Amino acid sequence: MGQGFPNWFPPDFVLNFAKESIEDKSKGASIHHYARVNGHGPLVEQLVQTYSPLLKQDLRTENVIVTDGASEALYTAIQAFVDPGDEVITFEPYFDLYEGAVIMSGGVIKPVPLYLEESKKNKDDLTSGDLVFDVEKLKSAFSDKTKVLLLNTPHNPTGKVFSKEELETIASIVKDHPRCIILSDEVYEWMVYDDAEHIRIATFDGMWERTLTISSAAKTFSVTGWKVGWAIGPQELVSALMRAHAYIVFCVNTPFQDALSKAFKHAREVNYFNTLREEYQKRRDFIIKALKEAGLKPIKPQGTFFTIADISKISLKDSEGTETITGVNMGIKDWRVSRWLTTDIGVTSIPCSVFYSEENRYDDFIRFAFCKTDDILQEASERLKKLKDYNK
Ligand code: PMP
Repeated sequence: MGQGFPNWFPPDFVLNFAKESIEDKSKGASIHHYARVNGHGPLVEQLVQTYSPLLKQDLRTENVIVTDGASEALYTAIQAFVDPGDEVITFEPYFDLYEGAVIMSGGVIKPVPLYLEESKKNKDDLTSGDLVFDVEKLKSAFSDKTKVLLLNTPHNPTGKVFSKEELETIASIVKDHPRCIILSDEVYEWMVYDDAEHIRIATFDGMWERTLTISSAAKTFSVTGWKVGWAIGPQELVSALMRAHAYIVFCVNTPFQDALSKAFKHAREVNYFNTLREEYQKRRDFIIKALKEAGLKPIKPQGTFFTIADISKISLKDSEGTETITGVNMGIKDWRVSRWLTTDIGVTSIPCSVFYSEENRYDDFIRFAFCKTDDILQEASERLKKLKDYNK
């Protein structure tokens, strides 16, 4: 339950379209050769149709670019917009790829913490909605060097889905900084639970002009190995991204883009996105119950396929005071616990300290990915029961 990839096959319709596209000889061999730099025409057309209502825009082809997964959209956008010394604001903890991409552009990450208010810390049923940010801290993170606000909703690793009010606050602050654009990473856009709603910052007043909305087929169609993602926004931003993209990867694999163009059309027709959400919500409920029964304190995610759990109650010492839970990176508790969970308990998690900057490193949480079949989740819940013996 470490890395975030589903252990199942993509839906049959997705697989069948892939086979069909690979074997399609109707246009000669072109399906096996370089695609259009901004994306294979049929996929771009489907993205235009899918996202026009979602982004409340009459999208055109020029508003879309297909990338090598959301990862490349993020990396390339950062290379395109961030110059040495420029600052990139993001909420912390953050997906670790962000920092690497910013460092490679010569930029500087300015983290703004998501935190639990003191009054909530002892609450039993925490949800990711209890994680908040300090508006003053966000305001003061901005400077005349700020170039990008990197937003991620639903948020990895916490599962937080930013509310309308929070997004309004963010948008109103960004408006005061004309140099700043928004990269909105929305790869978990279809995995939102209970009454949480995925709201797109690009739909807020004055935000379309300065936002690139980034997503990917990886999670939506359970094809993390296909590496097909996209960025959507105003033509000037997309075209700047394209100029870097053309010199980084040039284009994205053609056959899977073709298959996804058909998959999108079909998915809209059969309301696939809603089914996906319902299935994930069941898995989320199962894993939250299992973690609670094991004595961990999970924060119930409003979105994504991750949950983070508090390990502060796990004792690293036995009754004689000998350290029984050891491992790599000895000084960092969550690394030790994650490694020990893998080797001794048989369930892998990710230490959340990897999602923090060095100066704010926080090591009381580990992340579990629940994008796994029922048999795996069931087995994990059995193994996690052993944790009870280690609770303080
Ligand atoms: N953004 C976030 C927040 C992610 O969690 C991931 C995948 N772990 C990505 C981007 C990368 O997406 P892709 O696989 O499409 O490159």
